[in-house]
Amino acid sequence: MKKVELLSPAGDLERLKIACIYGADAVYIGGKNYSLRANANNFSIEEIKEACDFAHKLGKRVYLTLNIVFHNEDIDGVYDYIKEVVEAGIDAFIVSDLFLVKYIKSNFSVEVHLSTQDSVSNLETVKFLENELVDRVVPAREVGRDELKEIIDNTNMDIEVFIHGAMCTFVSGRCVLSNYFTNRDSNRGGCAQICRFCFSINDMEEPFSMAVKDLNMSKYIKDMIEIGITSFKVEGRMRSPFYLAVVLSSYRRIIDAVYNDTLTDDLLEKEVKILSKVSNRENSSHFYFKEADLSDQYYVGRQEVSNQDYLGIIINREGNLYTINQRNYFKKFDEIEIITPNMDIISYRVDNLYNDKMESIDVANQADSILKIEIPLDLPLYSMIRKPYL
Ligand code: SF4
Repeated sequence: MKKVELLSPAGDLERLKIACIYGADAVYIGGKNYSLRANANNFSIEEIKEACDFAHKLGKRVYLTLNIVFHNEDIDGVYDYIKEVVEAGIDAFIVSDLFLVKYIKSNFSVEVHLSTQDSVSNLETVKFLENELVDRVVPAREVGRDELKEIIDNTNMDIEVFIHGAMCTFVSGRCVLSNYFTNRDSNRGGCAQICRFCFSINDMEEPFSMAVKDLNMSKYIKDMIEIGITSFKVEGRMRSPFYLAVVLSSYRRIIDAVYNDTLTDDLLEKEVKILSKVSNRENSSHFYFKEADLSDQYYVGRQEVSNQDYLGIIINREGNLYTINQRNYFKKFDEIEIITPNMDIISYRVDNLYNDKMESIDVANQADSILKIEIPLDLPLYSMIRKPYL
């Protein structure tokens, strides 16, 4: 049985590298044009080439989103752009426009994945797409478990499903709230996340929001593998490198444990705890087992609590002396956890702490400063330090 793919977002090259070394099998990115996350840094053609070179050396794949709603004016420039991206080494396009699906499949030997923006929600549509030579479908997020199983059992189509991250209030992002409120077109990359705002209506005492809880399928990964899903997609091209490292390594451990037949309740409980800690929102399995309802919503709004758990990343090593790029406050004798690209989580106490001139200090309180710590352990570069989760 082919192992399920863990697919990560990456808003820039740094995130792509972190995703690849923290357990993703494939990464999806946006170019400077035609991508639904216009606020992410996104990749130039040179960066797409560097991203593909880096990922391919590690045996990983890179997909490019081309999933805005295309109007007449968008089409002219897209032909040259597609050619440049193919030459840069991309493995697949994530496309929503049916003309572009046909154009890419007719002119290039590269995979085409149909974006969730198309809201594919039934077996007959997937059968039709199979005949039209789409390589993969990302169904609407509103498609439940039994419907997914029926589609998988009755087609040869690869099915990619979101497993973690933010959800849209409206069907697969088909929403114009952002256009009305901020003149930013969510279907062309400009969503201002208006559904998360608090609204007041004259005769209502409490303000309300339309925000939904985040998706978190960690408890159901085994079932999702068993019904035959091809790819597990994490949402969030704007998320931080730390968030990606924690989320991807956690899902990597769960997926590997399912295939190795070592998934225990204890292991799962630990990973669920880690995943709920890194995200500052409540979560739910949304439409997988039932229609979403009040329990999946934040009707009375929610407090965003800023996450200060990420303490730093190891960027260099000389013997046991590690150079750390600091991100948040910590001090000598604090208990910390070190997470490594090998999927280890190591508890440790900070016994010594130096600044970049090797002067002993007690407190690390300047974000983005360079610190040194002697740690008698063999730690790979890009290991991250965080507050204890376990
Ligand atoms: S405003 Fe909310 S529901 Fe609408 S596209 Fe943006 S995130 Fe999705």
